[in-house]
Amino acid sequence: MRVGVDRDRCCGAGNCVVTAPEVFDQDDEDGLVLLRRTEPPADAVDRVRLAVELCPAGAISVAPRPEPGHSSTPVPEASATP
Ligand code: SF4
Repeated sequence: MRVGVDRDRCCGAGNCVVTAPEVFDQDDEDGLVLLRRTEPPADAVDRVRLAVELCPAGAISVAPRPEPGHSSTPVPEASATP
């Protein structure tokens, strides 16, 4: 799984940080989401999916991780900085 966040859509509700703190963080200055890692550990995958459902802004996206040697459309990297 690859995770992406859209800080332009984020409203700083913080649900994602509570749900999967090893993947999401909040900026101390503007309160918007920061992505700690794009590939969550296996034990966080279900919570990341829950975070997608709980995000009121629709700011979190997930995509399958490409298989090694398998060509696919790249997932845009989430930016942790504005
Ligand atoms: S749950 Fe959504 S709106 Fe709230 S901080 Fe996370 S990404 Fe932003």
